[in-house]
Amino acid sequence: NTIVTLESRPTGAIQESNFGMKTEEIRELNDGEFLVAIEALSMDPAIRGWMNAGTTYIKGIELGTVMRSFSAGKVIQSKNDAFKVGDYVEGMLGAQSHAISDGSGMRIIDVSKSKLTHHLGVLGMPGMTAYFGLLRRGEPKAGDVIYISAASGVVGSTVGQIAKIKGCTVIGSAGSDAKCKFLIDECGFDYTINYKTENLDAKLKEYAPNGIHIFYDNVGGDTLNTALANLAQGARVVICGAISQYNDMANIQGPANYMKIVTARGYMTGIIVFDFVKEWPAAANEIAGWIADGKINVKEHIVESLENYFSTLQMLYTGENFGKLILTV
Ligand code: NDP
Repeated sequence: NTIVTLESRPTGAIQESNFGMKTEEIRELNDGEFLVAIEALSMDPAIRGWMNAGTTYIKGIELGTVMRSFSAGKVIQSKNDAFKVGDYVEGMLGAQSHAISDGSGMRIIDVSKSKLTHHLGVLGMPGMTAYFGLLRRGEPKAGDVIYISAASGVVGSTVGQIAKIKGCTVIGSAGSDAKCKFLIDECGFDYTINYKTENLDAKLKEYAPNGIHIFYDNVGGDTLNTALANLAQGARVVICGAISQYNDMANIQGPANYMKIVTARGYMTGIIVFDFVKEWPAAANEIAGWIADGKINVKEHIVESLENYFSTLQMLYTGENFGKLILTV
């Protein structure tokens, strides 16, 4: 078994020295266990937070142990009647080539209907985040204007496309013209803002002259502050992520414009996708239907080999990834 481990905790941006790689013999299975040959890992922005000590919504990864990861692969040995040899499964199997599981937190996936990697992205945890974050927290209504930050990722682009299905006007910001073009041409967004070359505040005022009804935030920091200044009456601000802050969570920059929540009679709310886990299968079915109907487009960014774990993970924090970032084993 080839394993990517956490060797030290980063201060600031992740470094190659934070990670290690080792190989281990695969042990015999106990009753109730099965062995998975992992094919792909989901590379998620949250991994930076999991590398810190302590507990937030989930415990930090222990030093010397396997990097936590949503992974998917094929059952190749089994002593568990519910998971048979040949089944494909997805769950927190870690950043490694093989994993032994007793089935807890694992789900069998149908790779004949949807690609294995989709079960890690749009039909997996990030897709569920988009679905529940928007529908349960953002409460979109036809005619609402929604602004989504880090819009080109799997979460942002799925939020925007579901918002279009619900009849919203959709504005997304992203860090390159190519990402903005993808959002307009392939995801049906109404407006995009390249936040690196355009003035976010001016563009929001141009595209949403009456304000934003929903702000779906993946970025935090200045982006959040600027969006707050542009809220419409009754606006909902969904805090999904704050990737601009993940490298220094002890010194998060808060929004000076927060009093706008008061004058807009709005609210700001958080989403943790794991709170909806019982409803994931139904939501994944609905999203799969939208994909089949051509209402949701999916873009993936696939890198090969566990050897590239560090450089691949780093892409999320530099914006080098374009689409759902996957590392294949
Ligand atoms: P993405 O594919 O969107 O990757 C992250 C993107 O963030 C990068 O491509 C980059 O795009 C952008 N970015 C990186 N650094 C900065 C910065 N300093 N300022 C502005 N933008 C930046 O990832 P996901 O779709 O997987 O995740 C999106 C968000 O959803 C994250 O914040 C993540 O933590 C959150 N999330 C929350 C969950 C929850 O339960 N609350 C669960 C899952 C995800 P660009 O080129 O546009 O800068």
